[in-house]
Amino acid sequence: MSSTAGITEGLSGKERMELRAEVAGGLRYAHRRASANTGKLLEVASFAYAAIELLAEKGLLTIEELDGRKKVVAERLMKKYTADGMGAAYQDPEFDKYTFDRTVEIDCDSRLPLCKAACCRLRFALSRQDVEEGIVQWEFRHPYFIAHRADGYCRHLDAAKLSCSIHANRAVPCRAYDCRNDKRIWSDFDNGCINPDIDELFNAETQLEHC
Ligand code: SF4
Ligand code: SF4
Repeated sequence: MSSTAGITEGLSGKERMELRAEVAGGLRYAHRRASANTGKLLEVASFAYAAIELLAEKGLLTIEELDGRKKVVAERLMKKYTADGMGAAYQDPEFDKYTFDRTVEIDCDSRLPLCKAACCRLRFALSRQDVEEGIVQWEFRHPYFIAHRADGYCRHLDAAKLSCSIHANRAVPCRAYDCRNDKRIWSDFDNGCINPDIDELFNAETQLEHC
């Protein structure tokens, strides 16, 4: 049994949700503090740039040399940063999901026996609206990406019905997503052919029927 299961053992569904909301609030506070630290970091960077400019003015290095080296170092750091899952990501751009007018309509019911709601295994960042509203759950280990279960599916997917349990409050990417030309899912949407590599792609246990 995981330590999380131990903490929530004996709690009702409502109490679990309250606990989650409390933890989420704490994390959001931590992220705000992290943003404040970023402001400080910018100040330090300003000093560094000022020193570099002075060195260049005195002929001790050229800006071209510095730019070349900076690119290499920045790419290296960015790779590490991404691999470590650092930083909190929001949707970009963001829209109000309740007035969003580009919702894609697909006859999912007739497709579900084939796709098994594969779209609900995709990962994406939530908006500030989602996070502040507190209905769509996000991954504590990777803020603010939508939370997934151990089987790779979104936590809000009703596994028995393969339907969204928070349909009215779902995020904009859920509303705007169009699987028809997404070759990660369908190799041929019109003929109902699932991408034969979809299981590997999602690294999931669910077996989808291939053409
Ligand atoms: S993969 Fe496409 S057809 Fe299947 S549930 Fe998702 S949007 Fe609907
Ligand atoms: S919120 Fe709903 S529609 Fe969006 S990924 Fe999760 S289950 Fe699918």
